[in-house]
Amino acid sequence: MKRIGVLTSGGDAPGMNAAVRAVVRKAIFHDLEVYGIYQGYSGLINGNIKKLELGSVGDIIHRGGTMLYSARCEEFKTKEGQQKGIEQLKKHGIDALVVVGGDGSYRGAKALTEQGYPCVGVPGTIDNDIPGTEYTIGFDTALNTVIDAIDKIRDTATSHERTFIVEVMGRGAGDIALWSGLAGGAETIVIPEDNFKMEDVANRLKKGHERGKKHSIIIVAEGVMSGPEFAEKLQEATNMETRVSVLGHIQRGGSPTAFDRVLASRLGAHAVELLIEGKGGRAVGIEKNQLVDYDIIEALAMPHRVDLDMYRLSKELSI
Ligand code: ADP
Repeated sequence: MKRIGVLTSGGDAPGMNAAVRAVVRKAIFHDLEVYGIYQGYSGLINGNIKKLELGSVGDIIHRGGTMLYSARCEEFKTKEGQQKGIEQLKKHGIDALVVVGGDGSYRGAKALTEQGYPCVGVPGTIDNDIPGTEYTIGFDTALNTVIDAIDKIRDTATSHERTFIVEVMGRGAGDIALWSGLAGGAETIVIPEDNFKMEDVANRLKKGHERGKKHSIIIVAEGVMSGPEFAEKLQEATNMETRVSVLGHIQRGGSPTAFDRVLASRLGAHAVELLIEGKGGRAVGIEKNQLVDYDIIEALAMPHRVDLDMYRLSKELSI
């Protein structure tokens, strides 16, 4: 193997740049050539491919987003699209590919691997919902952004003695809601993994009020329902007025935390190591602070589990 490619795909996440930097530098350290594929699978199909040098990834470790850009590409879900991608890789003499992205991007990497083209997946998404790793690149940064917002909202909630509903990202996974809710001292956390009852939320609020607690923060993962919808239903159940804050895309941006930079550096370098060892079709991750890798097909089939012990703890601490 002489030449590898790297792309970022799907939703961007802080720390993707640090991962790209690690892939490029680790590869060059081992005398490989590295090509950047711009705009994810869309750029792969269109041949938007350029050689990267050591300096190409200078000054990016602290930047959010991705210097390689990201894109969604429906065409790549088809065999024809994938074939076009493989033709481009062959044309540029690229022997193997590192894909930084979420589970959709992994499916693309899996499709290429099944067609004989070695790929390694690196988990880059703020949602922390990729199997085969305890943490995904970007999750810690997003979490800190959410906590910063909760702390600010809490000031207003306290001053005005109000209940605030904060909608955070997480369609299928409640990790952002759970971790930020626990770290931010939220009174209630609503995650897609639990069948919550509005009645229970209402009762907790009423009990708090009876004890003299006049303000509350409720964190709702977007996968359960939107913040405004939740507020409407809660008002029906309690007759209490609430305020809603939808945090939205601020959760995806910003300079990556030290944790995400270190994680991205380790995972990106590990992906290159695997390719050097001739191991394609793998997904890298971290478990108990050790680097691990799984067959990408098996990884995709593994369920992601939110930490239910932590969920119970959050309830115990917010009585
Ligand atoms: P994420 O990687 O963040 O989960 P998406 O689900 O949007 O984001 O996936 C990113 C891209 O990966 C898609 O736009 C598509 O190009 C590719 N992809 C997703 N699913 C598949 C699939 N089943 N087969 C091939 N490529 C896929």
